[in-house]
Amino acid sequence: MSSPITSAVRFRPGDTVAGLDLTATPGFEGSKTDAAEVQATRSARLAELQEMLYAGWKAGGDHRNVLLVLQGMDASGKGGIVKHVVGAVNPMGVRYTAFGKPTEEELAHHYLWRIRRALPPAGHIGVFDRSHYEDVLVVRVNNLVPQEVWEKRYDEINAFERELVDGGTTLVKVALFISAEEQKKQLLERLDDPTKHWKYNPGDVDERLKWPAYQQAYQAVLDRTSTDYAPWHVVPANRRWYSRLAVTELLIEALEGLDLSYPPADFDIEAERRRLLDS
Ligand code: ATP
Repeated sequence: MSSPITSAVRFRPGDTVAGLDLTATPGFEGSKTDAAEVQATRSARLAELQEMLYAGWKAGGDHRNVLLVLQGMDASGKGGIVKHVVGAVNPMGVRYTAFGKPTEEELAHHYLWRIRRALPPAGHIGVFDRSHYEDVLVVRVNNLVPQEVWEKRYDEINAFERELVDGGTTLVKVALFISAEEQKKQLLERLDDPTKHWKYNPGDVDERLKWPAYQQAYQAVLDRTSTDYAPWHVVPANRRWYSRLAVTELLIEALEGLDLSYPPADFDIEAERRRLLDS
């Protein structure tokens, strides 16, 4: 059964990033403590569905898969989603890829080249920690290519995603939004804690200074690439317990939409039982 959260976070034409309440918990009325309880139950459901997806491919020849696309500013909680939400399912059936600054080899190719190489195999859940959307976010904000080049990418991305969906992929696109204040708090925590220094990147402060340009670039992404076949979900992420629950619900909804079931045995169960007992 789908949760009220999934429809509450679905991007609708006309929604604006600027007006978002980032401490809100759309579709969920409980407290952090309530959420912990729900999270445990729903993580178990997610794990069960993922196993069915995997089994359906491994033993049933089902070639469908799911791709979670995670976007968000630094410290918006992408890593926590990977650790806590994706971490609740069997890693055997997950293909995780983080997209950082392109390497020289990647830059020598079309920007979708590295994306295509990272697409999940059949039966798997792919996780993109940043994605092809960086090519219209960081690239646009920093003028890494001329405007006439990045302008064309929105339509190109829509066509690419259409192709993925037609090939049997269910896309779950999530944009995590935190406030500038919350980001400052999170980055300060990284500085204050020696066990988090590895997460601190001085370059994050430079990007932070371009906050309004990023807001604009995110708005353009939502306006131009939220399609009926691959809609965006706008998830307020100041409260991490909420954003984790929201992504869990979105993945559950995507998997339930596939109407999965365990594949039937392709052998004679009784004959096998006898053979085993006699062995
Ligand atoms: P994160 O901030 O995601 O936790 P990180 O700070 O450890 O990660 P990396 O994973 O090495 O850094 O890389 C992320 C950085 O790479 C981000 O600043 C992102 O904007 C940048 N990046 C990703 N894709 C591109 C791209 N296509 N062109 C330029 N920069 C990109």
